[in-house]
Amino acid sequence: MTGSHALRARAVACSGMGADDRLDDLLAFLDGSPSPHHAAASAASRLVAVGYRQVTLASDWGDVPERGFVLDGGAVVAWNTPAGASATTPFRLVGAHTDSPCLRVKPRPDVVRAGWRQLNVEVYGGILNNSWLDRDLGIAGRLTLADGTHALVNVARPVARVPQLAIHLDRGVNDGLTLNPQDHLRPVWGTGTDGPAFAEWIAAEAGLSEPPTFWELGLYDVTPAAVLGADSSLLASGRLDNQLSCWAAVTGLVAAGELPQIAMIVLNDHEEIGSASTTGASGPLLERVLERHVLARGGARDQLLRALAGSTCVSADNAHAVHPNYPERHDADHAPLVNHGPAIKLNSNQRYATSDATAALFARACAAAGVPHQVFVSRNNMPCGSTIGPLTATRLGIATVDVGVPQLSMHSARELCGTADPLHLADALTAYFTL
Ligand code: ZN
Repeated sequence: MTGSHALRARAVACSGMGADDRLDDLLAFLDGSPSPHHAAASAASRLVAVGYRQVTLASDWGDVPERGFVLDGGAVVAWNTPAGASATTPFRLVGAHTDSPCLRVKPRPDVVRAGWRQLNVEVYGGILNNSWLDRDLGIAGRLTLADGTHALVNVARPVARVPQLAIHLDRGVNDGLTLNPQDHLRPVWGTGTDGPAFAEWIAAEAGLSEPPTFWELGLYDVTPAAVLGADSSLLASGRLDNQLSCWAAVTGLVAAGELPQIAMIVLNDHEEIGSASTTGASGPLLERVLERHVLARGGARDQLLRALAGSTCVSADNAHAVHPNYPERHDADHAPLVNHGPAIKLNSNQRYATSDATAALFARACAAAGVPHQVFVSRNNMPCGSTIGPLTATRLGIATVDVGVPQLSMHSARELCGTADPLHLADALTAYFTL
């Protein structure tokens, strides 16, 4: 048995569902979540299917359900409250983010040039520019009508493409491709001048009788998520960063049995652009849900602070696996390998929130789940990224560990990871909730 097969077999042993079924479930989650709004809706529908009830922050929480969730745009906060929880019962949190870098459709998108119909687009987050070239792109996101109501739309077929310049017109391209994001990433989506305006077209696609006044729409590669490799040990998809962790958080929560504390997941939007928004990790969403939760169980600020003092958070966001063509980009002693389990991310300069204590907590969860774990520390001459963990830790004072599944091609329109690691992460999160 190869290493990856052994790991995959162990993942099967740790859950009621077979590994192939669980992988199919992950692929379905990824394909059903082409935008942050769709990812939040995907999470919500899975929670509703197992008995969770939606509440709003505007409603009375006098009868807040033991298993419930708040859905706010591209963000979700969900919880499972054990029977007998008091106002000081701590929370076990898992955080992830629903958004991924992409091209977004600008408000005045209609462009006609040289016989082509084009869409004026804006870059969302830190995309790998080249990865968006020559792909068949669909469009998905949220429309807002004149009366303020919303509709989700997903045009899940190829309608747009960013065509690369031919090598004959760019002889130096293989020495280094330079793309100006304003001029060179504009997709074509038709020819001639007679087609409908974008707003009318997208309204018809969404089945609306009037064009939306504004929207939050992204382009995405319509190629479905796929298992690949001669040994079927790899998984390719758009948005693995970080919808993979969203899936693991929801799956881990739903699978958790008897809970010693309150299990809660928070799937934030806007991580890729700095998290500073009402539904981002720097916004007030999680803090307000936590406070409402304590108040609903008869507590006050004192009980809230006592509950938070005993709470912990696992911030799950993908890590960089060692790239076989660029192994020198990692510290060889702290380099995550694909299909060797989720990585615990550490950084002494607190770009990650992990402490020795919280790292040990996640290692215990992995051990309890029977899954391996790894550690990631970046090279001293290569500063690492950051994620939602330090924001949650500093904003709420909750002890936090940053972890993530190792992947390649982060922020590409199509990313790559192993098939064993997502299942290991979900199993580790279930164990964390129930430890
Ligand atoms: Zn991420």
